[in-house]
Amino acid sequence: MPFLQGLEHVVKQDEPLAPYTYMKIGGPARYFARPENLEQLRELVVRAQNEDIPVYVLGGGSNILVRDEGVDGLVIYTRAPAFRYVRVEKELVTAGAGASLWSAVRAAALHALSGMEVLAGIPGTVGGAVRMNAGGRFGDVGQFAHQVSVLDWSGEVRTLARDQISFDYRESSIEEPVILEASFRLEEDDPVAIARRMKKIWITKKATQPLSVQSAGCIFKNTRGLSAGVLIEQAGLKGYRVGLAEVSDRHANFIITRPGCTARDVLALIDLIRDRVRAKFGVELELEIKIW
Ligand SMILES: Cc1cc2nc3c(=O)[nH]c(=O)nc-3n(C[C@H](O)[C@H](O)[C@H](O)COP(=O)(O)OP(=O)(O)OC[C@H]3O[C@@H](n4cnc5c(N)ncnc54)[C@H](O)[C@@H]3O)c2cc1C
Repeated sequence: MPFLQGLEHVVKQDEPLAPYTYMKIGGPARYFARPENLEQLRELVVRAQNEDIPVYVLGGGSNILVRDEGVDGLVIYTRAPAFRYVRVEKELVTAGAGASLWSAVRAAALHALSGMEVLAGIPGTVGGAVRMNAGGRFGDVGQFAHQVSVLDWSGEVRTLARDQISFDYRESSIEEPVILEASFRLEEDDPVAIARRMKKIWITKKATQPLSVQSAGCIFKNTRGLSAGVLIEQAGLKGYRVGLAEVSDRHANFIITRPGCTARDVLALIDLIRDRVRAKFGVELELEIKIW
């Protein structure tokens, strides 16, 4: 069966990816699918697997740098309504992978459930947050993830219990191609105290990160207990530019992409940062963002 047969209404060809990412740069996807339900999603994954077409799952695009050449594969966008629900039952918050992380954080707070407020201010989707074990100095997704439903390469839905997943610094061990849903086990608390903590985290984030300009958050992981941002700053690179990509003045681990910036500019700046930090501190910076 030809790859697109019967799925033409949910798959576009040569769709520019830049508008779907926070950096707003990068080329097109050979195939770009926005499945409307699980059946279509399953069909896409199985057909791509059968035809050896690489699959990339796109959530909010807040942690991705797409190369200027684009992606020679199938990009699956998870933001159709069928994947965007949030439910609260007792102390469990359950959300579809395409729901914004913020909608899950807010639902928890509104139900006087504590834990997820540590994720306030992190952009993107629940699927992306689980995949990346999103978090920060106040905590991360892995601390209260309860179970995660995934779609495997054969099109089967499987449920992974918390103890079947390991969450490490900005990564999880989930190998299946698509995260479908995650539930989080939280604790009852005073809603005023939750709101206060959330506000504090927001204020800290706004004070230390450039949130009003185009970026993909932290480019590098912190390493061996050293802050990547501090290493980059001490290498004298704050404000440094390559083309229209610039090391943020506010937080040196953020690269800001000015209008007209290319992925080539960002990649060249990444190489330069790594070289300078290696030369000055003997530290090899590892990427946190995903390059497609
Ligand atoms: C201004 C700014 C601030 C940020 N602050 C933080 C922070 O404080 N802490 C932090 O951890 N991160 C931060 N980030 C990075 C980013 O927001 C997180 O990594 C976020 O969780 C990514 O979610 P997303 O939906 O945008 O994922 P995407 O960028 O779309 O994808 C990221 C990765 O997850 C995979 N993925 C996405 N959805 C699925 C799915 N359903 N199934 C399988 N794989 C999937 C993608 O394939 C990709 O590998 C920040 C980013 C920005 C722009």
